[in-house]
Amino acid sequence: MSDQTQNLDSLRDEITNLKEYKERLRLFEETTFEAITVYDENLRCVDTNGMTTTLFRYSREEVLGMSGLDFFDPDYRETARDSVRRKNREPYEARMRRKDGTTFLAIIQGTSISVNGRNLRVSTCRDITELNEVREEARQKADEFQTIFETSPVGIFLTNESRVIIKANLAAARIFGYGEPGDLVGQDIRIIHLSDESYVKFGEFYRGALINREPLKFDYRFRKRDGEPVWVNVSGAVVDHSDPPDLRKGVIWCCDDISARKAAEEELIRLSRTDPLTGVLNRGYFIELGEWELKSLHRHERSLSLLMLDIDNFKQINDTYGHAVGDEALRFFATHCLANIRDTDLLGRLGGEEFAILLLECEIDTAYRTAETIRTRLKELSAAKEGIPTMTVSIGLVKAGKETLEAALGRADELLYRAKNLGKDRTCY
Ligand code: GH3
Ligand code: MG
Ligand code: MG
Repeated sequence: MSDQTQNLDSLRDEITNLKEYKERLRLFEETTFEAITVYDENLRCVDTNGMTTTLFRYSREEVLGMSGLDFFDPDYRETARDSVRRKNREPYEARMRRKDGTTFLAIIQGTSISVNGRNLRVSTCRDITELNEVREEARQKADEFQTIFETSPVGIFLTNESRVIIKANLAAARIFGYGEPGDLVGQDIRIIHLSDESYVKFGEFYRGALINREPLKFDYRFRKRDGEPVWVNVSGAVVDHSDPPDLRKGVIWCCDDISARKAAEEELIRLSRTDPLTGVLNRGYFIELGEWELKSLHRHERSLSLLMLDIDNFKQINDTYGHAVGDEALRFFATHCLANIRDTDLLGRLGGEEFAILLLECEIDTAYRTAETIRTRLKELSAAKEGIPTMTVSIGLVKAGKETLEAALGRADELLYRAKNLGKDRTCY
């Protein structure tokens, strides 16, 4: 084969390759979502692809020779000119203008190149109207959530996997006695727990519930900044919605300060259990607690002593000094009894001027001494006390056995009756 033939063959190959390359380039140009334009030094368009005509609605002939700046909305022309001047390669957003004057938002990216001594600028333009809509929608949603978050009267905070607060709203800060959400953010959740034990237990409990997607809502006592406890109705939910959820995405906690409600509930309970005049247990609650103590007698060897106390001639006190003095005398009597028993013993007002005491872990002889102290000291103290008459009391005392409280009370009542019959101001057992 001659050299000439060989040269011809390789030239043919090269032409074939070039043709293929050109075809590939054409495919790329025509299938891309981007409008591609090439400009000369004067920013006149020297080449373009099909997307440019689709996007800007000019014909190819119109585009060729057009100034690149004319594709931009007037407000963005300076930016575009500056980008070319700086040979900027970074993408930027700009508003573009179609032939019919309508505009759209686009991402522009250009490259300055040199071909055969000519300085050219290749520019790509991609319509991001839809992308922008999605972005705007997301931004709107984020704004809505942020507004809810900031203005919610419910305390809301987000913790990460290490139980550190990474987001908190004002209501949450206030519930836990902090001035600003910033005072909570970055802090370990430990700071709102009353103890390390509470912190550990709470963590173990909620982790299991959250992983199993069990509803997590309960009342819990947390700690305020100043150390005071605060009752909070708390609910927790993992941010991640997959199954099982990925706790690393964090947990959202909603908190409602229910201290006032709890206090009201506790007050209601207290009222339902105590006698309003003297503050000691009322009949119902004395019996309820007393029964419970007596039941434990069946399981353990314990000594319980029961006293029935009835103020002597109380009707006469009322008749002589008036009902108000009678009330004062009842209060005095209750306080006097409390002063002579232990905190764990039970004192109840069974009705009128009749009281009962359950002495826990107390043998009958010790109970007798207590009864006698109450009786003798009552006489002395009431005589010394201004504003109330001298009072005496009769007492019936029994050692409680394996019986109901009602039965024990019945036996104590009989002894009390005997004390009255024997002339009052005495203890019978
Ligand atoms: P005894 O020595 O036999 O126990 O006679 P008593 O007068 O103490 O007993 P009685 O049962 O005859 O009278 C009890 C009185 O207690 C009658 C009732 O008006 C009075 N009383 C009951 N509840 C109250 C109260 O809440 N306040 C006042 N001031 N008096 C009360
Ligand atoms: Mg009486
Ligand atoms: Mg009575």
